[in-house]
Amino acid sequence: VLRMEAVRKTFGGSVVLRDVHLEVAPHTVTALIGASGSGKSTLLRCANLLEEIDDGAIWLDGEEITDPRADQDAVRRRIGVVFQAYNLFPHMTVLDNVTLAPRRVHGVSRAQAEERARELLERLGLTEKADAYPDRLSGGQQQRVAIVRALAVRPRLLLLDEITAALDPELVGEVLEVVRGLKDEGMTMVLATHEMGFARDVADQVCFLDGGVVLERGSAEQVFGDPRQERTRRFLRRIV
Ligand code: ATP
Ligand code: MG
Repeated sequence: VLRMEAVRKTFGGSVVLRDVHLEVAPHTVTALIGASGSGKSTLLRCANLLEEIDDGAIWLDGEEITDPRADQDAVRRRIGVVFQAYNLFPHMTVLDNVTLAPRRVHGVSRAQAEERARELLERLGLTEKADAYPDRLSGGQQQRVAIVRALAVRPRLLLLDEITAALDPELVGEVLEVVRGLKDEGMTMVLATHEMGFARDVADQVCFLDGGVVLERGSAEQVFGDPRQERTRRFLRRIV
């Protein structure tokens, strides 16, 4: 679904991503792990063309999206993103938050958009919240609404950046449960996370980033169970 080759990203003079290679197969979950500042968010933002890369190339479904001739809006429409701060529109109900993009950006009718929205809200246990405003929801509920909103446009790929980082510990589980459910349904996802137990549990592929380099990449079993690099071992020892 997604492929990155020799991606390089700098901010000012500093290199934030260096020679990053990544391949995401359909219906798989890739977890990006690594210390704060290692480049996980930047990688996700590059994949969604929120950041322009300095070198290398990125493909989505075989199309080179970093080609200057690529239609960036069309690319973004195929990728759902959820970030740590849920960024719901505070002046809109849950239902309006969820149906906004399908209606405005994808030209879906209100009736169709609402039907899909209600179906998704039900799946994520939010049926009763459709007409509520975001400030009446718990953090976990808001984050689930943000996931529903990302799914409402039927993306090919879902990028999740620390979606549990802003949550109270007791709310983390419900959001992770949603991700697990999406995996079971075959959604392709790339997620940055500090939840190592979760990454180990849900990820098919784990990438350990260190200073903008993918230092280690492999199955969850391999990276967590038998890391090849000393730096990965040290990171995991510190965290777990
Ligand atoms: P965290 O776990 O804390 O979320 P991260 O792995 O997501 O960290 P990034 O946010 O990708 O890390 O940041 C990687 C590096 O890039 C950091 O050194 C950061 O300061 C730098 N950086 C990120 N965004 C910008 C920006 N817009 N301008 C300048 N530097 C930036
Ligand atoms: Mg980050």
